[in-house]
Amino acid sequence: MAKAGKILLSLFYFKEKPKSVFAQINNSIFAKTRINFRLNHPSMENHQFRPESLMMSYGYKPELSEGAIKCPIFQTSTFVFKNAEAGKRFFEVAYGLSEQRPGEEQGLIYSRLNNPDLEVLENRLTLWDGAEACAVFSSGMSAISTVLLEFLKPGDFVLFSAPVYGGTDHFIKHVLPQWGIESASFDANDSEAAIAAIIEAKGQKKLGLIYVETPANPTNALIDLKMCKRIADKFSAPDKPVYLAVDNTYMGPLWSHPLKHGADLVMYSATKYIGGHSDVIAGAVLGNNALMTRIKTMRTFMGNMMSPWTGWLLLRSLETLKPRMELQAQNAIKVAEFLREHPKVEKVYYLGFLEEGTEQYAIYRHQYHSPGAMLSFDIVGGEKEAFTFLNNLKLIKLAVSLGSTESLAEHPATMTHADVSQVEKDKLGISEKLVRISVGVEYYEDLIFDIERALSVV
Ligand SMILES: *Cc1c(COP(=O)(O)O)cnc(C)c1O
Repeated sequence: MAKAGKILLSLFYFKEKPKSVFAQINNSIFAKTRINFRLNHPSMENHQFRPESLMMSYGYKPELSEGAIKCPIFQTSTFVFKNAEAGKRFFEVAYGLSEQRPGEEQGLIYSRLNNPDLEVLENRLTLWDGAEACAVFSSGMSAISTVLLEFLKPGDFVLFSAPVYGGTDHFIKHVLPQWGIESASFDANDSEAAIAAIIEAKGQKKLGLIYVETPANPTNALIDLKMCKRIADKFSAPDKPVYLAVDNTYMGPLWSHPLKHGADLVMYSATKYIGGHSDVIAGAVLGNNALMTRIKTMRTFMGNMMSPWTGWLLLRSLETLKPRMELQAQNAIKVAEFLREHPKVEKVYYLGFLEEGTEQYAIYRHQYHSPGAMLSFDIVGGEKEAFTFLNNLKLIKLAVSLGSTESLAEHPATMTHADVSQVEKDKLGISEKLVRISVGVEYYEDLIFDIERALSVV
């Protein structure tokens, strides 16, 4: 009975096309192999369900769980084998000692390898990004650090876009060097030729991975992924491919799909929009079957998979992902427009305000479907004025993190980016007067009321 998802480690296994519509929707093996499947009903032929329509059912078979409409929480460490022969067979396949036979179902073994809640969640996450496979993690940082450790070797260097998330920055600059892995960085102002020169100066044969975070936090500067892919291809060798890994936490999985712009791997802090309620820490990585097999193998031995309970909460979060994110984006437009007109606001950094004709605008139109729900602004004054504003907000909470139902505000220079050197802060525009806001789902006039009141005290 306990086999809601039954694709454990069977990464290259394709089942015969099922007959009924419902069998298709509920067939997790089918689910992970392609995003757009066709209905068999003649009048509905070629209909493609959108991800938001599938978030309630995809990859889950109620008949395997007593008919429960929702996937139960499989709070279990291990799974009982039907008989010794079945257990032997599962291990043969799991350890790659034998290939899965056509039509053979792979069973569940142990929750560090996989678990139904995680499998169903992984299958559903593949839909948004159009990915072949997904692996979910205990945090965004465990997803990111697992990718870096799997794809970099001693002697390599990682080329990364600056600024990246503080935890990522620390891992690259202070942890990877302990394994003999160096780094070099570029930013949104660097041209393709300038980036190539950075790689050549470092030793192009040593380039192991290109790691990008876009839009940059907190200024929303954009990196052109197509350009990054050209660079990755240019420095790839047959025996040493250079992969492009993109942290899509800020705009995914709804508003940007890096795999379609040349990325090989896309990573998330699922703590943010995917979880969306500020109640879990979680992460995910998506990509093709071959790369994800490597990631899942590394995850098995790092043991940093997600817990079943977190997986279950995220399944619930995914059902409302699209309406949440859309409302957040709508609210952000109103908040940004209000801020732009306010005399105590010097400048607003918001993707919706990029000027047509600029290079940044061109990247924006190409890579994103929405300006998103993150914005920052320079308040007239400095730290004192920024703090007065933050201390006088009532509805909007003073906290780091982003992408959640509640609106959050913070001071990057002294909080999320406290660790960044002054030289870099100046270069990236992270000044004392900068305030960052993650816009939530509250009624927009209440948000504006709160902001207006707090600004009036400054
Ligand atoms: C929050 C965040 C992370 C880290 O994720 P955790 O879930 O906190 O481990 C990584 N990248 C970005 C862009 C983030 O915002």
